[in-house]
Amino acid sequence: MKIMKFGGTSVGRPERMQHIAAMVTKETEPAIIVLSALSGTTNALVEIGEHLSHGDKAAAKKNIDQLETHYHDFISQLVTKPEASEKAKAIVAEHFEFLNIILRISFSEALSKDILAQGELLSTKLFSCYLEEQNIDHVLLPALEFMTIDSNDEPQIGSIKVKLSQLLQKNSDKKLFITQGYICKNARGEVDNLKRGGSDYTASLIAAAIGASVCEIWTDIDGMHNNDPRIVNRTVPVEQLSFDEAAELAYFGAKILHPASIWPAQTYKVPVKLLNTMQPDAKGTLITEKAGSVGVKAVAAKDNIIAIRVKSSRMLLAYGFLRKIFEVFEKYRTPIDMITTSEVAVSLTIDTDASLNDILKELEPFGTVEVDKDQTIISVVGNEISRTESIIKKLFGSIMNVPVRMVSYGGSPHNISLLIPAEYKKQILQQLNKGMFNL
Ligand code: ASP
Ligand code: MG
Repeated sequence: MKIMKFGGTSVGRPERMQHIAAMVTKETEPAIIVLSALSGTTNALVEIGEHLSHGDKAAAKKNIDQLETHYHDFISQLVTKPEASEKAKAIVAEHFEFLNIILRISFSEALSKDILAQGELLSTKLFSCYLEEQNIDHVLLPALEFMTIDSNDEPQIGSIKVKLSQLLQKNSDKKLFITQGYICKNARGEVDNLKRGGSDYTASLIAAAIGASVCEIWTDIDGMHNNDPRIVNRTVPVEQLSFDEAAELAYFGAKILHPASIWPAQTYKVPVKLLNTMQPDAKGTLITEKAGSVGVKAVAAKDNIIAIRVKSSRMLLAYGFLRKIFEVFEKYRTPIDMITTSEVAVSLTIDTDASLNDILKELEPFGTVEVDKDQTIISVVGNEISRTESIIKKLFGSIMNVPVRMVSYGGSPHNISLLIPAEYKKQILQQLNKGMFNL
């Protein structure tokens, strides 16, 4: 059994959805197809939720109507036979009726999750409707019946495995399964989700739970590139990455893969392939346990980073100082990305300002606190790079004229990270492309 996940742009137009149907029916191996919402839908649903949370029902209603029109246009091109058209219209009507009912009840956090779930429910049901019209045998597996997270928002692999296996067993004569990415049930039994971009995570969790032969992530680019193609002119796909390398790249800014989606595949040893829907024959990127060759594979950039420096002579020869500082971040559930320390100061970075003021207030008693906003983390990733002298030389040789605020080196042998002011991002990515990749 293989997993094939298609992102929003891959299902975002009727002809693309039809193209995917043609692709998946060519498969000889049984497959579970995981779909995102049509591109733009989740953003629209987020907006609807925000309007409602501010009590602006008129604005929410306007967005709902706009989205409904979009879906009517979509299905009118997706299906043509009268029976399928009727069915597609009924699906759209059902979900927009739900959104219109929500307009009338009082808003809550749980309700906003219900709103967000409509995107994936719609995309999968409409896809199923098209498959039916084409007489393609398949089963729609409701993710809400097997995808669960616990009270810490962690997926419950054990129970996912049991429930999903039961569903598959019931349909053991079938070869093609469709399910929703992103959505799940939480510990309170409410509809919830795996956070933005979470469909990749769904795919990897399912792949892990059933021991899939491969987890294919189909997007609109031919794999993970060596540099950010939106910023740098010449970039090339990386053919092979280890899970460790891919995790660093995904976490530090390569937008193609949700960072949490690495661990399930890695733990359960399922290879991951990043492939391009528009160019299905392109090699893409294969991610496995294997480290591959020594050398720099790629650079990635993560924006909106805040650097915090705590300076204190009390740190000198003291123990327990770092623990107390870290406890502040733990209290406000704020992950730390980079850390560097000297004997009298510690610098660290976070990627959210949600609790920044509280954190700063609690750090004050420890010493002088300085904050730099609008920073970018540049991560250079590759097997054993921080143990390879020639690479380090090349790296620092190619970042001339960029003011580096922090360097994180040696934490992992596969990553060297630099913190720079955001306005130097383009320049440093270009310089690294030339210096490290000769591109
Ligand atoms: N539809 C969700 C989002 O846009 C999940 C996903 O696409 O992976 O975040
Ligand atoms: Mg995505």
